[in-house]
Amino acid sequence: MKNKKLIVTMLMATMPLSILSGCTAETKTDLSNTQNVSNEPQSDNDATQNLQATYNSIQSADVIVVGAGGGGMSAALAAVENGAESVIIVEKMPMTGGALNTTSGTMSGAMTIIQEIDGLTEDSIESYKNDIITEGEKLGGYANEPLVEYYVNNADDMINQLWEAGLSDNQYTVDSEGRKSVFAPEHTLYSYPRSYKAKPNNPEKYKSAAHELLDELVAKEDKIKVVLNTEVVELQANEQGQVLNAIAVSNDETILFTANNGIIMATGGYAGNPELMGEFSEYGDVVITGGLATADGNGLRLMQEVGGSLHIESMGWIPTYPMGLESLEIEGTGQIATTKTQYAGGILVNTKGERFVNETDADNVAREVALEHQPEGIQYEIYTDKIGEDLVASGQGGFLTYYFQSPAFADHVITASSLEELAQKLEIPVDTFLKTVEDYNANVDAKTTDEFGRNFAETSSPFNVAINKIEGDKFYAVAIKPLAIITMGGIQVNTDMQVVDETGNAIPGLYAAGETVGGVWGRYVSSGVGVMGPIVFGDLAGENVMTNELATGYDVKPASNILSEDLFIKKNTASVDELSLTGVKDGEYNVTVDGQEGPMEIKVSFKNEVITGVEIIKHNETITIAKTALEAIPQAIVDANNVNVDNITGATLTTNRIIKSVIAAVELAKQ
Ligand SMILES: Cc1cc2nc3c(=O)[nH]c(=O)nc-3n(C[C@H](O)[C@H](O)[C@H](O)COP(=O)(O)OP(=O)(O)OC[C@H]3O[C@@H](n4cnc5c(N)ncnc54)[C@H](O)[C@@H]3O)c2cc1C
Repeated sequence: MKNKKLIVTMLMATMPLSILSGCTAETKTDLSNTQNVSNEPQSDNDATQNLQATYNSIQSADVIVVGAGGGGMSAALAAVENGAESVIIVEKMPMTGGALNTTSGTMSGAMTIIQEIDGLTEDSIESYKNDIITEGEKLGGYANEPLVEYYVNNADDMINQLWEAGLSDNQYTVDSEGRKSVFAPEHTLYSYPRSYKAKPNNPEKYKSAAHELLDELVAKEDKIKVVLNTEVVELQANEQGQVLNAIAVSNDETILFTANNGIIMATGGYAGNPELMGEFSEYGDVVITGGLATADGNGLRLMQEVGGSLHIESMGWIPTYPMGLESLEIEGTGQIATTKTQYAGGILVNTKGERFVNETDADNVAREVALEHQPEGIQYEIYTDKIGEDLVASGQGGFLTYYFQSPAFADHVITASSLEELAQKLEIPVDTFLKTVEDYNANVDAKTTDEFGRNFAETSSPFNVAINKIEGDKFYAVAIKPLAIITMGGIQVNTDMQVVDETGNAIPGLYAAGETVGGVWGRYVSSGVGVMGPIVFGDLAGENVMTNELATGYDVKPASNILSEDLFIKKNTASVDELSLTGVKDGEYNVTVDGQEGPMEIKVSFKNEVITGVEIIKHNETITIAKTALEAIPQAIVDANNVNVDNITGATLTTNRIIKSVIAAVELAKQ
């Protein structure tokens, strides 16, 4: 592997960052790589004509990147930095960013400029590496040491480049000393503060600063073209065994993308595909998914079809976070939203009314695994007003106020004026629950350490901002389940990010980067590595696709254990069997339903038992994800005069909310 760290350092010293440089556009029409797609011997002209007949269009570039998440955008920028005259990023969603659309995107890195500015000079690459490896080794996992070694040595350069490129202007979540380098208590703590929680400058458009910045850099680069709403459905090799063709579909069009140097698969993980997760994970039935539905892992199958080898052992390494709020609309899906009240004296109980874990354990994995083992994977977060107030005063009350104290999430909060009433509402055994609270309160009074290891004397830890008893005249409970947002399995690569086959041979032309690569981190991943890993390895893939020689003579064969096609069947969760409009009265009906971050209000109009209008009056959806659904679904419902409309890729929840509103309006109009 090249010593990238040294290369980057030298570049930084001698010239402006190349990821910032503007370039000239160049249109490419070279079809030389596509002429061997057919099996018949043909002249170049015949082949070109055949291809033009088969595909609605053919687009060529030096590098084709599949997936516009952090990994794909970083790969495209690096390819240009290393000489690519043209790069096409093909993305199936209507927007860039991938998983970065769903997260505020904590980043991490050791020995960074941010730590230096914060006066934190004691960190080391070795310590970062040890923390990552230790986390990955939990529960029998193991990391790919050479890749982790590369990552820890280059994450700081990437953070520094992003800082120079604009991250220095962003607001951050800071610690009590005002430092931007923080511990991230939602993960197992690092041995040194090295997580960075930058906020996007334009929160209306972006959820994470990393997405905002990469998007700006890609947009500035004339040599990169982003093709949205287009899904790659097949990879093909030419007769030299080079995987340089990607066939994609967009609406009713079939497009052939051809590469001169190589294809980089940055197609993400499979946390949005419960079937695929269930195939490999033993906790599939209690875990809810927080990944976008587009994180379906289909890229893995595409790579297997041309010989790519899965890292099978890690396919079931699916960390779950004990902070999943299940959607009331679509069972099995959810989002990160925990009250965090256990850090101010709250407790977690299971459906038996018992505590089951040290709620303030600094080891995230201990809390995750404990929850996975509870009946139905449910923990009730139990708290009082005093606990809520102390949490907010500590600065950790963001989730509580944003979600659970807002009317939009009221349906998730069970409220009672006595513990008995709370237990009855939760349908858990009253006596057991009362005894659980009594024992807990006694431990708080005694200032001891309880049977789970929760320490009632210690208040200095970021995991224990206040110690309260469960007492008073108002009690609250929120049900939380294990949430999968990231997957650790995937395709195998060598240290150049080339996809390898089952014998370890690199497949010419085919590279992969980001969450789609398996077995890099081990069983669990440390804070901020989920975001920075794809950026660092995307950068490496983009460099190598331009600088490595393109091998020839490879015999392309499918992998022996291709994932079943059934695991990737798209479900149109939005459809209902039949919506009867018989008996609806003419008029306009306003309906309000729960939205992503607040209510969604919709006006539906009927005339002569026909839907004549669907208008979104107000919504609180994440606009980058929901935009296409908000624009297209109302008209599609009017056109179909029904709610059986095609779902919008990546915006299933918004689509379903609109449909749910129309169904509610139909009911209203029948009264
Ligand atoms: C809710 C949530 C919160 C998270 N929070 C954090 C955090 O705070 N810190 C952290 O470090 N990590 C976090 N992660 C993990 C991290 O965000 C992801 O691991 C990382 O962003 C993945 O980047 P990627 O580029 O590899 O893949 P993705 O971002 O998933 O991008 C892959 C892209 O490829 C596209 N694609 C897939 N198949 C095709 C195809 N066949 N054709 C065309 N396009 C295709 C997808 O639509 C997608 O846009 C979080 C993840 C989630 C879901």
